[in-house]
Amino acid sequence: MNLYLGLDFGTSGARAIAIDAEGTVQAQASYPYVATASKDWVTSWQTALFALIEKIPLDLRQSIRAIAIDGTSSTVLICNSAGRPIDEPILYNDARGATVLEMLQAIAPANHSVISATSSLAKLLWWTQQPQFAQVRYFLHQADWLSFLLHGKLGISDYHNSLKLGYDAEQLCYPAWLESLPMSPLLPQVVAPGTPIGPVKAAIATQFSLRSNCLVCAGTTDSIAAFLASGAQIPGEAVTSLGSTLVLKLLSQTRIDDTQFGIYSHRLGEWWLVGGASNTGGAVLQKFFSSEQLETLSEKIPTEQESSLHYYPLQHPGERFPINDAALAPQLEPRPEDPVEFLHGLLESMARIEAQGYELLQKLGATPLKQVYTAGGGANNSAWTKIRERQLKTSVVRSAQTEAAYGTALLAMRNCNQIL
Ligand code: ADP
Repeated sequence: MNLYLGLDFGTSGARAIAIDAEGTVQAQASYPYVATASKDWVTSWQTALFALIEKIPLDLRQSIRAIAIDGTSSTVLICNSAGRPIDEPILYNDARGATVLEMLQAIAPANHSVISATSSLAKLLWWTQQPQFAQVRYFLHQADWLSFLLHGKLGISDYHNSLKLGYDAEQLCYPAWLESLPMSPLLPQVVAPGTPIGPVKAAIATQFSLRSNCLVCAGTTDSIAAFLASGAQIPGEAVTSLGSTLVLKLLSQTRIDDTQFGIYSHRLGEWWLVGGASNTGGAVLQKFFSSEQLETLSEKIPTEQESSLHYYPLQHPGERFPINDAALAPQLEPRPEDPVEFLHGLLESMARIEAQGYELLQKLGATPLKQVYTAGGGANNSAWTKIRERQLKTSVVRSAQTEAAYGTALLAMRNCNQIL
């Protein structure tokens, strides 16, 4: 039996899922990051990586044919020539790059997605201004560095992790404006996500009883991995994440990038994964209802009737997608006395915003919506699913799998089998 191991390094912890060639889960494990006082992320990740491999039962571990790793997008490191990090990593949500935004605007084309305080390129530019920069030989993303620990090759990334570094996934090269910068020799070589890079290092194979020919494949980001896990595969299929916020991802034959609405596209094989994120979502529901209330009250909603309440549920003023208005005020009035009616209005309004989001993506040229998969806490709410089907005019199902580690295992399996 051949198994494929996906390792997910998310925001709060790491997970491993091993699947067989049919996609059946054979083993899974999780490992929370240990919060050290010094916030030594590098040690936490490294410990989690090896602990997760050891948590896979020995007989199954020896069947692993390929491994791939996903990490949080724009979590980055600088390393010396031996691959040792020479500073703390900069995490996905760290906005210190705000201090180099003007510099970024001067070097990148107008409205480019790298022009953001949290982009990988902003973080690299910030580092160029730090004293230790002279020692830097490699700039890597979290997934690139963790993969390096397994295969031993430095300076390799994938085009999902590298999108916000400025890599052009359509032309499959760095654009000329980026290549011409003095720090361009530090940029990683970019391959397609899932590309087999090489076997695990001999020392790793021995230490963890892995096969000596176990392949390590190029990785991806955690949110793309979650999309891959969903089961969505053909253009027109989409995944809505109903977590604290509302995130839409639609598989499309055409690419769409629109900075005004924060819409950008990741390459997925020959297609594009077009995404947009709204600030509405489950966090607003949590302000008014407990988990138990959400369940019991939802069951009483007459889902076939459209609520006449038109809200725009937000925690704070400001929205980007599907309405671009930095001052958009939360709209939660009038509030009926009946909590069922109020919840109906909230769920209906969020379903309208979701539908408006998919309409906008299609208006901008994305493949028409055919089927929606759902992940996140809201996916469990069957009343909401019925309301959304009515608003979206398409069927809505729960994602087959929701764990990013599962999607990353699939990535390893599909790419590895292509070359066998
Ligand atoms: P995140 O990872 O973005 O924090 P999760 O995917 O864990 O979010 O989902 C949590 C959200 O799901 C919460 O904001 C909560 O309001 C929402 N949620 C949980 N259960 C339900 C439910 N039965 N109906 C609607 N929303 C729910």
